[in-house]
Amino acid sequence: MRQILPGTIAAHGMALGRARLVQPSRYSVDTRPLGDDEIEQEIELLHRALETARRELRELRGKLHGTLAREVNEFIDAHSLLLDDEELLRGLDDMVRIGHYRPGAALIKQRDRLSAVFEAMDDPYLRSRKEDVEQVINRVISALQRQTSPEERKLAARVGEILIADSIAPAEMAQLAGSGLLGVIGSSGSVYSHSAILARSLGLPMLVGTRDALSEIHDDDLVLLDAERGEAVVHPTAQDLAHYRAWQRGALIEGRRLAKLANAPTRTRDGIEISLYANAETAADVATARARGADGVGLYRTEFLFLKHKGLPSEDEQFIAYRDLVMGMGGLPVTIRTLDLGADKADAAGLVVRGEDNPALGVRGVRLSLRYPAVFSTQIRAILRAACYGPVRVLVPMVTQPDEMIAVRTLFKLARQELERENIDLPEILPLGAMIEVPAAAINVRALLAYCDFLSIGTNDLAQYVLAADRGNDALENIYNPLQPAFLRLLSHVISSGRRARKPVSLCGEIAGDVNFTALLLVLGLNEFSMHPGQILQVRDRLATLDRAHLRSHATQLLRAFTHEEAEAMLAEITGNHGGRSGSILGTGNLE
Ligand code: PEP
Ligand code: MG
Repeated sequence: MRQILPGTIAAHGMALGRARLVQPSRYSVDTRPLGDDEIEQEIELLHRALETARRELRELRGKLHGTLAREVNEFIDAHSLLLDDEELLRGLDDMVRIGHYRPGAALIKQRDRLSAVFEAMDDPYLRSRKEDVEQVINRVISALQRQTSPEERKLAARVGEILIADSIAPAEMAQLAGSGLLGVIGSSGSVYSHSAILARSLGLPMLVGTRDALSEIHDDDLVLLDAERGEAVVHPTAQDLAHYRAWQRGALIEGRRLAKLANAPTRTRDGIEISLYANAETAADVATARARGADGVGLYRTEFLFLKHKGLPSEDEQFIAYRDLVMGMGGLPVTIRTLDLGADKADAAGLVVRGEDNPALGVRGVRLSLRYPAVFSTQIRAILRAACYGPVRVLVPMVTQPDEMIAVRTLFKLARQELERENIDLPEILPLGAMIEVPAAAINVRALLAYCDFLSIGTNDLAQYVLAADRGNDALENIYNPLQPAFLRLLSHVISSGRRARKPVSLCGEIAGDVNFTALLLVLGLNEFSMHPGQILQVRDRLATLDRAHLRSHATQLLRAFTHEEAEAMLAEITGNHGGRSGSILGTGNLE
């Protein structure tokens, strides 16, 4: 019988498919000892499952972009290292060969043994690695089960399925999306979770907080996931299906309409030109950025290069990556951010200070780079060399105070002198800017402006530091809200200080690419946005509907708001959007 389960929209869209409930404990493992004649064949199954797990991780890495890619890549790296760990592999082989364990039983035994070892560690960082060990071994177990059990093989094919889960890890979601998954219904979860951000960037409709989903929906039930109205319809009727088809037709027309905007100028309704830059890390991002008519790259996160590398990337390796990016953008400006590693990220290079109690408040970004001047200078030399191939700007992450910018400038000067002595070509100018993501830098921005040619506001971090709310903690969604008045006042202060100093200010956090914040950012006076390239057309389209002069005239009023609810209501009033938004303020969907 038709049933409607309400939920919160985490990623807009609709999907019709068969329900697949996630029950991770479904695997039953055969614990009978192996006969001598079975050993070689079982070893082969084990090795094949390990190889499948490695391949899945590689494929997963190729699919991710932007901030989330960096975060997901951290544990992909950690997992890949574990899958190549000689001790672990030898231990498993020995258990099968000598101990006559079946591979599934051997994996479970190793998983439980290793997680007990990690659990007992004093160092909180190492203790937290327990989860990685469990996740990676579970991945191998699942690959093994898919080889041996027809039921699991069926489960591996996600084509036409809607996943029903309590919550889902970002890596799993990215992987499933690649195997034909249509959408996700979470019985708990938050719109600010990494999985929700990932769903938006993958274009997968998603509901969270659909309380009764796991008890009311059963495997293979037909479900209409309506992440436009915010509900899951179990056993939809003919009328529901007609509604779905009408939505599909509309989405197709909207997609085509947006595609036409690829080469259109970016202007507000009252004709003000706005610059749209791309946050680009991969060749695919660069291609999308150019295809959508980006004005350049506003953020290139160089830590990717370091995270995917065993040991440090050499000057030449870095030079080639930066030069290819610069050439790929065909003369448009490219903003290269210097290394932003910290103790919260696994780094194969081994630079990061381990065991810090508060890694987000620790030695990360420029603080880390300045601790290793030789490593930093290698990066600086590579950037200087690449800057001969097109216009480049350099962005410094996690700046707190002017002396850091002064130190970076000095290192650039020294590297220039060195390269000059080596008769290597140098760019005439190389603008240097600071990321504004530490509250002290934002409040005292005028002091920094004296040493910066431009600024870029990193709202993902700035919001977490201003609000003392971890950007990854789903439990804090009522606090981690970009409409918090304290945060708005700080943004306005940075943007207007930059304008007064006649220095460009861009914004490269998630909200730059979220059309629900476009009007807000215009109210605050922003005219350079940098976002995931997949969002450029939607933001360009939204800008064309907004009257900048009208919005700006309400800035003072908006900045007087006392609460984020009040700010949201004012913004709706100012933009004439009295009906309120459907679902989450972050749920912009993705019409790629
Ligand atoms: C930010 O903090 O807003 C930002 C763009 O940098 P990242 O997400 O890489 O920390
Ligand atoms: Mg940041």
